[in-house]
Amino acid sequence: MNYDSIVIGAGIAGSVVARQLAEVAGKRVLLLEARDHIGGNCYDEPDAAGVLIHTYGPHIFHTNDEGVYEYLSRFCDWYMYPRGHQVVARVNDILLPIPFNLNTLHMIYDELHAQELEKKLVEAYGMGARVPIMELKKNPDEDIAAIATFVYENVFLRYTMKQWGQTPDEISPEVTGRVPVLISYDNRYFQDQYQGVPTNGFTSMFERMLDHENIAVELNTNAKNRLRFGETEIFLDGEEFNGDVIYTGALDELFDCRFGRLPYRSLRFAFEHLNQNDFQGHSVVNYTVSEDFTRITEFKYLTGQTDCDGTTIVREYPFAYSGKEGEIPYYAILNSENEALYEKYRALTVNLPKFYLLGRLAEYKYYNMDVMARRALDLANRIMEK
Ligand code: FAD
Ligand code: UDP
Repeated sequence: MNYDSIVIGAGIAGSVVARQLAEVAGKRVLLLEARDHIGGNCYDEPDAAGVLIHTYGPHIFHTNDEGVYEYLSRFCDWYMYPRGHQVVARVNDILLPIPFNLNTLHMIYDELHAQELEKKLVEAYGMGARVPIMELKKNPDEDIAAIATFVYENVFLRYTMKQWGQTPDEISPEVTGRVPVLISYDNRYFQDQYQGVPTNGFTSMFERMLDHENIAVELNTNAKNRLRFGETEIFLDGEEFNGDVIYTGALDELFDCRFGRLPYRSLRFAFEHLNQNDFQGHSVVNYTVSEDFTRITEFKYLTGQTDCDGTTIVREYPFAYSGKEGEIPYYAILNSENEALYEKYRALTVNLPKFYLLGRLAEYKYYNMDVMARRALDLANRIMEK
């Protein structure tokens, strides 16, 4: 079979771009996936007890991008959270709403003091503001500084140390800025309009997306065994390939890590099925001052599943990715040194015609699913305009 386009990686980036090229441009697309399933890190599956679990950690679709929402809605119905996705942090013996917001403030200070502090915060930032902790920490006001210290020490410091092996001051402010202090009574983890999961799971959404006569999916296929990259040419099974090649994997691995490995954080997921109806009453509890794991997810609250016995939870244990067989690079570590190394690898690709880097790994970025889908739709459009 002759193909017009090759897409490497069947995560959300690769799947959306493959579908668009196949459907809108009528291209014959070969989709190569190293794992034994589609969906990348969004993959979900029933565990042995029949509980739908997210194999690579909890995934909640959330977006304000109408176009992306509508696009994905072609392939699934949604279980949208009526009150949004809500997260609490276990701090000693109490559960605090996260992101830290005015509800949290009123839980930790006595009422009179909380009212004064609320007034100060609203005066300083305005009702509804989203203030990154690293910004709040700079506020010279003594009372606001005290809140910042509380939040820094009880929400961010130890969780970030576990997740990144570094303090919040040492990592990119973009990372902690994902969970800002909210000057509002909004307990939702995300402020996006759409928040939920596909009713029948993410995997089913991907199955429908890739079910197209112009798409051939090959699982258990590392693209490196099929493709060879010269300076200006790409070979498929030894023959020069002149179509589009979209790569969504880690860029250093494509070039055998010749300049050294791009640093990533990885996670070990410890799943546990319990013969009880409920474990924590919440979909996600963050452990911000204790334990070695960062958070516990209880899947039935994330997916809305009711037809299962017992409950399944997962604990996440972060560690430094080393590239060993079986390890998965989950998070790019954003800093200027790593970005410079990434650019060195990217430079190796600039003379390859019709070669595109797309995805959280291939672009070395901290992208959410909706952004990935948007970037895939945009890339498909750019390719089709050529
Ligand atoms: P991936 O999903 O990583 O897909 C890349 C695919 O390429 C993989 O299947 C891989 O096997 C394949 N591949 C790589 N190299 C090769 C090769 N050489 N040959 C063949 N195949 C290859 N986002 C949200 O919006 N909401 C959330 O709640 C959320 N939670 C998250 C929780 C965790 C623990 C993590 C790690 C991420 C979370 N994300 C979340 C982010 C989300 O997972 C990503 O935005 C999204 O999966 C990125 O899609 P992708 O296609 O770029 O990459
Ligand atoms: N974070 C934290 N405490 C929390 C929640 C988040 O310190 O209770 C920090 C931590 O550094 C984390 C980052 O904020 O890595 C981003 O959090 P997010 O929940 O977006 O991480 P993800 O779900 O992508 O792992």
